[in-house]
Amino acid sequence: MDAPLAGCDYPRTLREFNARFRDEEAALDYLAGLRWPGGFACPACAETRCWRMSKGRNLRCAGCRLDASVTAGTIFADTRLPLTTWFQAAWYATGTKHGVSALSLQRVLGVGSYETAWALLHKLRRAMVRPDRDRLAGEVEADETYVGGVATGKRGRGAAKKAIVEVAVEKRGVGMGRARLACIPDLSAESLLAAIEAAVEPGAVVYTDHFRGYAGLTAAGYIHYPTAISSSGDPAHVVMPRAHRIASLLKRWLLGTHQGAVRPQHLDDYLAEFAFRFNRRSSNHRGRLFYRLLEQAVHLEHVPVSAITSSRS
Ligand SMILES: [Zn+2]
Repeated sequence: MDAPLAGCDYPRTLREFNARFRDEEAALDYLAGLRWPGGFACPACAETRCWRMSKGRNLRCAGCRLDASVTAGTIFADTRLPLTTWFQAAWYATGTKHGVSALSLQRVLGVGSYETAWALLHKLRRAMVRPDRDRLAGEVEADETYVGGVATGKRGRGAAKKAIVEVAVEKRGVGMGRARLACIPDLSAESLLAAIEAAVEPGAVVYTDHFRGYAGLTAAGYIHYPTAISSSGDPAHVVMPRAHRIASLLKRWLLGTHQGAVRPQHLDDYLAEFAFRFNRRSSNHRGRLFYRLLEQAVHLEHVPVSAITSSRS
């Protein structure tokens, strides 16, 4: 295993996918290429030559003989599922326009239980959130929406039975740029500001409605344009068409692909998947999403050497 992946290397079609990832070794080599994009470098001695062990998921350093695990510290660790099953799940999760439900995935992969398929998707969603750390910039529409339950009347009423999602989306001419979505606990100024600050770069132009919860945006460094929405219930899509559009796409996706079967405590993960897909909607190759997802899945932050090495057997 001394030929790292060259650049952005991914299968274009299901046929290519199937031909390429026939076995565990092929999948492991692919992950190793993503984990060490510049080629293997031993975490202990910086040696660049290594070989793949015939069992397990380790590379052995040709210099000091240390075994470095390819999957330790990633979503692929501590699972008995074959990597090929993970890869198939990632392929289906990224390869369809609306993603896949756990029930569909269970059928397609032939995994034993719904719970296994659900856990697979859940972990893949966790990996989807990572690239979206870059905050939105330029001109941004921000608004909150309710997920679950039945919307009735004005803001706040009946909110206790619903999750509140803050939506922020960039204006790009008449179209949309990137979007960020996050659950917020309530409509307090603190919660709204925290959500905006997590999603939008200071200095950006932020359009909201006249809700008083947004009053602190200017002091927080944003160029804030509150827009009046008439008290008679003038719909939000008139003044913030993009945020409204994202909210309706989100709700349609939750009801369609997932048939509304989303628990509030998992909503953040679904929001991550929605944003991952939405923000890459112009990608010509589905395979590129597969590549990005696996790349993020093996990306590690602040993992000590001891966590990616394993004892020799
Ligand atoms: Zn070494």
